Amino acid sequence: MSYTLPEFLAHAIALEEEAAERYHELADMMEAHRNDDVSRLFRDMVRFSTLHHDSIVERAGTIELPRLRSWEYRWSSPPEAGGDEAFDYMLEPYNALRYALANEVRAMEYYSSVGLQTMDAEVKRMAAEFAAEESEHVDALEQWLARTPRPAATWEDDPHRGN
Ligand code: ZN
Repeated sequence: MSYTLPEFLAHAIALEEEAAERYHELADMMEAHRNDDVSRLFRDMVRFSTLHHDSIVERAGTIELPRLRSWEYRWSSPPEAGGDEAFDYMLEPYNALRYALANEVRAMEYYSSVGLQTMDAEVKRMAAEFAAEESEHVDALEQWLARTPRPAATWEDDPHRGN
């Protein structure tokens, strides 16, 4: 799909707002369980997403933005969302980091695909810039994962986890 500038800005604003909210929840969750280091990381991510959000809003200025009907930019739900099990599951820093990583990868892929598909030069430029920013978040989360102990049960080896 070839986004126009207003469409792209509307999606990017929604995406960053969503990321900030989810990181805020994750940070609170980690903090409640004394995982202070990971909580701090998620607070940083809240700040990055908020700063990014604000700069996009500023860039949009007086441009009239469309109301979004699609929810594609939303973060995927945590595994087995809805049950208490999912919540317990996310209390493991490793699982929370993996969840965040999966969503950062989606954001990066989203921006890259917009950049490849759009006919608008300004959208192309911004999408490439945003994709690069997301890839830094992906790197940061991967580095954290590399030094976070892997719990007994993870997403991959959970037999109850559907695709
Ligand atoms: Zn990000």
